[in-house]
Amino acid sequence: MTLPIYQNFIHGRYLANTTGEHFEVKNPATDEVIYRVEIADESIQLAAIESAKLGFDLWSSMSAIERSRILLKAVAILRERNDELATIEVLDTGKPWQEAQCVDVETGADVIEYFAGLAPTQVGQQQTVGADFYYTRKEPLGICAGIGAWNYPLQIACWKSGPALAAGNALIFKPSELTPLGALKLAEVFCEAGVPAGVFNVVQGAAEVGQWLSHHPEIAKLSFTGEVGTGKKVVASSAGSLKSVTMELGGKSPLLVFEDADIDQAVSAAMLGNFYTQGEICTNCTRVYLHRNIYTEFTQKLLHRIQNNIVAGDPLDPKVNFGALISREHQQLVLSYIDSGIEQGASLLCGGKAMRPASAANGYFVEPTVFVDCQDDMRIVREEIFGPVMSILVFDDERDVVQRANDTHLGLAAGIFTKDIQRAHRVIHKMQAGICWINSYGNSPAEMPVGGYKQSGIGRENGIETLEHYTQTKSIYVGMTNIESPF
Ligand code: NDP
Repeated sequence: MTLPIYQNFIHGRYLANTTGEHFEVKNPATDEVIYRVEIADESIQLAAIESAKLGFDLWSSMSAIERSRILLKAVAILRERNDELATIEVLDTGKPWQEAQCVDVETGADVIEYFAGLAPTQVGQQQTVGADFYYTRKEPLGICAGIGAWNYPLQIACWKSGPALAAGNALIFKPSELTPLGALKLAEVFCEAGVPAGVFNVVQGAAEVGQWLSHHPEIAKLSFTGEVGTGKKVVASSAGSLKSVTMELGGKSPLLVFEDADIDQAVSAAMLGNFYTQGEICTNCTRVYLHRNIYTEFTQKLLHRIQNNIVAGDPLDPKVNFGALISREHQQLVLSYIDSGIEQGASLLCGGKAMRPASAANGYFVEPTVFVDCQDDMRIVREEIFGPVMSILVFDDERDVVQRANDTHLGLAAGIFTKDIQRAHRVIHKMQAGICWINSYGNSPAEMPVGGYKQSGIGRENGIETLEHYTQTKSIYVGMTNIESPF
């Protein structure tokens, strides 16, 4: 069977590269190559920039309400095609259909809808200064770039294009080479909705293509989602052209469960925050701190629910709620973290091995894994694993657990379960994290800004403030009287 080959999406259409270079994409649940993708070689890179310039000229001269109307059409098409797009995400990422069908496309469409609604609300100021006055205009930045991770490929492309396009910019987007198809489909949707050619171009490839975007002097802003280490390289190479950057990076987030918490709810949060998307979510609460008095009840309930409620297997099966990791390399990395946990003295409450579910025997599965007897300085407690590995730690004292929870260079998210309303707010205000939940975990609506403290990020996605990051303010002074000059 000949495999489909996808080209880069430039100026409203698929465009062949000149070198013929391409890469292969595998389905993580079957280990089979499912399609090939052409790499954005120099000819594509040049075309992407020239096209984005043309697209920007046209798009930025439209009124915000016209842009909004077109983006809302794209939102409607995304929702109509929900199942087709969700299937693409399942085949590319290995995540369960059960999730993709109700989350991935939906939360992407929500964000575009949100920013489409906000676009016409952007206003400047006017102020009288003596006989003269000035006014300000909110202008788009020009050509922006987005670089995405592989865990929520379509959603990330939507979260970056929504505010960028609503503000009148053009966006060149590079998805992860592990999950390149969702962004191409988004480009098709934008075109069908009437977004002019060149406003959303998709370039494919690995680090080199990302580096080209971060270096390029004509790209005004770069929004990146990925690992902390890659983020640092991207910031360093963006510095050459003083690009503005948004960095959505990794985390090692704490969940604090106090003795008065609703334990069933806290177990639900810990499971969602460690096993949803088979643990490949940046905000996951991989450090679960339990008050000593509830340790036994919590761990027993947790174990019972893992043993009875997790269904691993073919991600396309609607009954499956636990999918395959993104790649064989990543599976091996997660297993090596589990080995290090055992070597450093933690004990397995459950899991710890690779899995071969009958319906997806060649997939890159790792069992839902819970470590107890953990210490704060173990690698499994300090480093982001990005897989289904939870570390349980015990605490006695509020001040002590706050200090331990904050003792990390990362600061993406944090959560607390308690029925004491004063403690809930007191503790959460002390958390050094950008995204916090009280008696909840993981929800991230379009209206709520998200992003990291410390090395987990720079800037925010979603929420009103993100639109500001995609505009620049022009001040215009208007002289109403004759200029006084000594010359
Ligand atoms: P990576 O950092 O490996 O890659 C992210 C993107 O950057 C990919 O498109 C990658 O290309 C590209 N890239 C790699 N090297 C460079 C470079 N030198 N210059 C420019 N671009 C480059 O992250 P992963 O894809 O492995 O994603 C997992 C990480 O993403 C986790 O750390 C997770 O926490 C984080 N993440 C953060 C989120 C947040 O909102 N804070 C949300 C989702 C994930 P390619 O893969 O094709 O090589």
